[in-house]
Amino acid sequence: MPRGVKKANLPEKTCQTCGKPFTWRKKWEKVWDEVRYCSDRCRAGKSSQDQPSPRRP
Ligand SMILES: [Zn+2]
Repeated sequence: MPRGVKKANLPEKTCQTCGKPFTWRKKWEKVWDEVRYCSDRCRAGKSSQDQPSPRRP
C-alpha cells in the first residue's frame, strides 16, 4: 500500500452485473485488477436471471 491513500481517494470500478460503482476494499487489495463485480452475489449472477435449474436435452 502506498502511503497517503485516503478513503476518498480509493479507486472505483463499475460492477459488470448491476452497473453500480463500487469502491476498493481491503479484501481485494491483491486481486483488484481482476475484480469486476461489487459482490459475490453479482459475480455469481453474471448472466441475468440465471436459474439454477439444469436443462438437459
Ligand atoms: Zn453488482
